[in-house]
Amino acid sequence: MSQHSHVQRMSRMMLKTLRDDPADAETASHKLLVRAGYVRRSSAGVWTWLPLGKRVLENVARVVREEMDGIGGQEVLLPALLPRELYETTGRAEEYGDLLFALKDRKGVDYVLGPTHEELFAQVVKDQCSSYKDMPVILYQIQIKYRDEARPRSGVLRGREFHMKDSYSFDTSDDGLAASYGLHREAYQRIFERLGFDYRIVSAVSGAMGGSASEEFLAPAAAGEDTYVQCPSCGYAANTEALTTTVAPAPLDGHPPVEELDTPDTPTIETLAAHLGVPASATLKNLLVKIDGEITAVGVPGDREVDLGKLAEQLAPAEVEVVTAEDFADRPDLVRGYVGPQGMAGKAFRYLADPRVAPGTSWVTGSNKPDSHSRNVVCGRDFEVDQYLDVVVVEPGDPCPRCGSGIELDRAIEIGHIFQLGRKYADAFELDVLGQNGKPVRVTMGSYGIGVSRAVAALAEQTHDELGLCWPREVAPADVHIVAAGKAKQTELALELAEKLGAAGVRVLVDDRASVSPGVKFTDAELIGVPQILVAGRRAEEGVVELKDRRTGEREELPVDEALARLTTTA
Ligand code: ATP
Ligand code: MG
Repeated sequence: MSQHSHVQRMSRMMLKTLRDDPADAETASHKLLVRAGYVRRSSAGVWTWLPLGKRVLENVARVVREEMDGIGGQEVLLPALLPRELYETTGRAEEYGDLLFALKDRKGVDYVLGPTHEELFAQVVKDQCSSYKDMPVILYQIQIKYRDEARPRSGVLRGREFHMKDSYSFDTSDDGLAASYGLHREAYQRIFERLGFDYRIVSAVSGAMGGSASEEFLAPAAAGEDTYVQCPSCGYAANTEALTTTVAPAPLDGHPPVEELDTPDTPTIETLAAHLGVPASATLKNLLVKIDGEITAVGVPGDREVDLGKLAEQLAPAEVEVVTAEDFADRPDLVRGYVGPQGMAGKAFRYLADPRVAPGTSWVTGSNKPDSHSRNVVCGRDFEVDQYLDVVVVEPGDPCPRCGSGIELDRAIEIGHIFQLGRKYADAFELDVLGQNGKPVRVTMGSYGIGVSRAVAALAEQTHDELGLCWPREVAPADVHIVAAGKAKQTELALELAEKLGAAGVRVLVDDRASVSPGVKFTDAELIGVPQILVAGRRAEEGVVELKDRRTGEREELPVDEALARLTTTA
């Protein structure tokens, strides 16, 4: 038989499937992509893409390319090796910190391996575009990125080397930026639709990227490291990191005066609430932390937990640490377990609080002396908040910021992120073009990422079943997997079918391995996860084959011609 480019013969492929999960694998995508022979771990967070995996990766990239070209994106390829100086100019060297892979050349010049490319793109456009007539511009690349992730677990879901599509828009007005952002949003919807994702678009925070409006594309999955909220009533959706709480202020007057109470042995919220017979939510918890070494109190209702990660995120690049016994040693004014903001906030410590600690709210809190608490401590009357921050761990049932109904919480994988950056990078590099009136105008930028390699693993997470991978058609490494059950006649038929289908443009994987038992071949076909499995088996000699849908498991016996017709029309 001739070797048709649409036909892959397993007898000639470098493919080794594994019966057992890799020992360090925690997520289904990690286990299955390794076991089915798509990827191999090279070192921590660094992966080799084997023939099947490369096909899937390229299929994702192809869909991304088509849709980016569709909105007028121009593909380029920038280097991954970048002068560190660029990242110093924008302050991102410090913001990314240890996440940056850093190296020196032989002359001692500092370089980084690009984690994302806003800086260099701004420079390229500064070099190439000089007039408003050159705008808007959308540039994109599909390239390898480097981030020295702290815990690269989960296989290719979180690599230290990974594939990203990153694009950047350049406009001369805010309306222009909004339009470029809108184009990307729609292109992303088409991309994730075509790839076969179940996904949500949620409001996000911009993080180290800088800038204002941003949204994430999340693929709901148990293995996800992001938590997002969703409102079942109004459809509001946001990353929990971006969820904001607003609490209307209440009147300051009409509250009884502060009253000190003896509360022996009540250093915790539980013991205090039980002793006084009030709900924990009526008490004010004051967590002491150090921000860049300075003692700071964070006030939250007693029934809520402080999310230290979220706190650190909002205060970055300031460093947030929990206090230790030593920090109390030279601060007799801070009584462990009995701290209250009255008389202390803004004096003994800066006072940060959750928005629930709104002006006019009244609390039971520490009296700043041992074994004593105070009640009727009113925010705005007895203490002031220096800064409000959303710092409590979000819980199901918390109010939706749009409609007030109880929200739901779910886990997801971030597969894409779009930002309206504004002028942060243009300012850093003085990126101007000549405007319509002959005067320079500062350019405004957007930046837009898709985790191309992560998308492969995220799809595996969403679509796999107990038998193995189960690819959506657009990304599958083939359209049909033909299994030759073993006898010479069966192999002959399988190869003949493969040839015919290949010639018709159907992508075929044909299992013509001679020394492999039919049982292993069937198991491998399920594991590899091509959408349709065609078996040349028992009735091959009569010209009857079996067609199986990998997803539904539905199987049907068909005459060869009918099977061919079916596969050439659906492919
Ligand atoms: P995360 O919060 O998961 O670390 P991020 O918000 O830092 O991601 P972005 O800077 O928004 O990531 O990068 C754009 C896209 O690149 C992400 O939406 C994600 O799909 C992908 N991505 C980011 N980090 C990784 C990684 N370590 N491995 C694989 N893909 C990644
Ligand atoms: Mg992101």
